[in-house]
Parts: sequence; structure tokens; C-alpha cells
Amino acid sequence: MDHFLYKDGVLHAEDVSVAEIAASVGSPFYVYSTATLERHFRLFDEALDGIDHLVCYAMKAASNQAILKTLANAGAGMDVVSVGEYLRAKAAGVPGDKIVFSGVGKTADEIRVALQGGIRQFNVESEPEMEVLNAQAVALGMTVPITIRVNPDVDARTHAKIATGKSENKFGIPIARARSVYAMAAALPGLEVIGIDVHIGSQLTDLAPFEQAYQKVAELTETLRADGHDIRRLDLGGGLGIPYANSNEAPPLPSDYGDLIKRTVGHLGCEIEIEPGRLIAGNAGIMVSQVIYVKSGEGRDFLIVDGAMNDLIRPAMYEAYHDIVPVVEPAVGIAQQPYDIVGPICESGDTFAKQRMMPPLKSGDLIAFRSAGAYGAVMSSEYNSRLLIPEVLVNGDQFAVIRPRPTFEDMINRDTIPSWL
Ligand SMILES: *Cc1c(COP(=O)(O)O)cnc(C)c1O
Repeated sequence: MDHFLYKDGVLHAEDVSVAEIAASVGSPFYVYSTATLERHFRLFDEALDGIDHLVCYAMKAASNQAILKTLANAGAGMDVVSVGEYLRAKAAGVPGDKIVFSGVGKTADEIRVALQGGIRQFNVESEPEMEVLNAQAVALGMTVPITIRVNPDVDARTHAKIATGKSENKFGIPIARARSVYAMAAALPGLEVIGIDVHIGSQLTDLAPFEQAYQKVAELTETLRADGHDIRRLDLGGGLGIPYANSNEAPPLPSDYGDLIKRTVGHLGCEIEIEPGRLIAGNAGIMVSQVIYVKSGEGRDFLIVDGAMNDLIRPAMYEAYHDIVPVVEPAVGIAQQPYDIVGPICESGDTFAKQRMMPPLKSGDLIAFRSAGAYGAVMSSEYNSRLLIPEVLVNGDQFAVIRPRPTFEDMINRDTIPSWL
């Protein structure tokens, strides 16, 4: 459930009319709902009631500092995958001891910045990374808490581009090699082995792969403890899916996920971390766009809108489905018609939906792409020299621009011309 509903015939974000925001900031833009962000965070937090835990928001899903601050104020830690995310989280006021550093390719420079700025733990993904982290920690006279990300070889049954827990994926160390890698880590003076990390993929709509992975983590915990390691923290990753189509799609609830965690690893007495991204931000954001032209093609009508694949790449990249709704509520019982909804970019991949049934629309009408809060604005680019679009945050009856639309000068003046030209 989210807070984007029709009120008085116009789509609202909480108590603010989306049409009013459009009049103020222009089109296209992203808008997020504070109440939805907070609600989704709380669902996870409450799902782990009764066990020592920290919900670390995977900020790669939507990383505007206003979003981070909203979630941090609600009690969230952060999961970061680059030094840029680390610095952004710090800038939003998140203390280092609530930031977890994940990622398969952390550089020595990234590691050093996080060690100096303070970190809750590193989730280490390979032996060479372990060596670099150890060397950096030793050089700074520190001992850094680590978990090691294991690859449980579980099929997450999600889109191939966002599955991460199969042995052929680049992530983690094979679980079969875990004992020797943990032994190696324990021998390094700059590292303190405190736990195990796992993350098997994103947009999982079934709990079974989580169950398989967490059972393997539970077994590994016992094995590593028998080997003498003090395993006291389990980072169980993110990945719970959201409903993208408003129809009958019903992914598992955070409460079911929390019960599964308690059932599979609850008896171990470990502190639990989870790293949800999509489920917190996905349905907390929409992208609003305006119809430029309605163009009649051979046997089909195209709705050419001012948002494009550079603003929201999920349909082009993952064949993702987004519900698309008019901002002005259609009259009850109005006949719908099929449209191909496309952006202005010079690629056929710049298609949001084919033969989508919509009420009749005309040039100037606003539409909203629902469930665009996660992996939306963060994946945008300036392809075709299009400006990054603004982000707006709503809270009750207030709204604020949290990232303004740049000017064309801002964009163009970033290029520098070599002296020989
Ligand atoms: C992407 C990612 C997440 C978040 O995944 P969601 O599907 O957005 O919940 C969590 N942990 C790690 C290590 C990730 O790479």
C-alpha cells in the first residue's frame, strides 16, 4: 500500500496534488511519499521485533539525502556499495557505526575513506579484498569488524540481471570454500571476524529461495563456531519484491519474511541485519510525465511523453512493468484504448509500455509511472543531453524539491575543451 491516491479527481501524493507539483516544478519529475517510506521501514523493523536487529536501507535503490534522512530518523542504518554512497550517507547525518559497506569491487581508496570516517562493518566478498582491507586497517592501526559474503548457490528465481546468489554470479565466496576463507581472515591482524553475509538477488516474489539460503547460513554458523570463530552477526541481505502490477500480484509480506528469519536463524542468538532497498523505496515514488504528442501509427497509437529511458530505465533494461495512470482521474466507465507509451529518445528501446490500455489522452495531459521510487532516479542519465529530472518529497500537505532540475548551462559547462581546439 502507498499514499498515491486520487482525491477530488486528481492524483495526490499524500495530501498534495500531483498536478500542483507539476505546475510548480515542470515535467517530468519524481515525487516520493514520506509516509510510505516510513511505513515500509517500520514493517521491516517490526517484522524483526523480539530479536536484536538493524534494518540497513540499501541506499542504491534511492539515495537522495532527504530520503536517507527520513529513514535514518526512523531508525534505519544504511547499506552502501561505493564510497560515494558512504559519503552521501554521512552527509545526510548517518553515523559511521550504522553504515555497512557491501560490494564486490571496493578499492583501497574507498576502504580507507570508510575506515577513517567510521564504519559498522565491511561485508567482504573475496580473498584479495580481504588482503587490501587488512593492509589498510593495519596501516591505520585499526581492527575492522567484517562479515564474509557467502554465495549459497541458490536460484533466486528473479530476472537474470538481478540474481546474485548462484555460483555463476560474481558475488561472494562459494559457501563450500567458506571455512578456509574464514580461517584466513582470522589470521589477519587488521580484521575481526564477526559474522556472515548473504544477498541472493532482488525482486524475489517467493520466500523459498530465502529459506534455502538462510538454512545454509545457519548451518555455516554452527560449523564456523565449531572452528572457533565468534559468529555473532548475520547480515541477510535485501531482495524482497514489490507488486509492480496493480492486479493480483502479491509478493510475501515483510512480516512473513521476518517469521522466516526467526524460524531459520533465530535460534543462533545472533544480531540480525537486513538490507532492503526496493521494498522501502519502490512504491514510495512515482515518475510524472506529460504527453507531448499523440501520434497515429500503422495500426497503433503512440503516446509520446516527455519522460524517457534515461529518466526511468527499468522497462528498457529489465523488461520491467510499471502501472501507468493519468493524473486526472478518468471518468467512471470511460472506454479505454491501447497505446504504445514511448519517450522522445532515438532508440526503439525507449518504450515504457506496448498496447497499454488507457483512457483517451491528449497532448498536455499528465501521467504517472507508479512504483518508480526504487532504481528510478538513481539510474538516470543525461543520454541525449537531457537534463536529470527533479526529485520532490511530500510530507503530509507539504512538498519540497529535494533535487532541483539543473540548467542547460550546468550540464553543458561541465565539458572542458582541450587547449588544442
Ligand atoms: C542491491 C542490494 C540490496 C538491496 O536489494 P533490494 O532488492 O533493493 O532490496 C541489498 N544488499 C546488497 C548487497 C545489494 O547489492
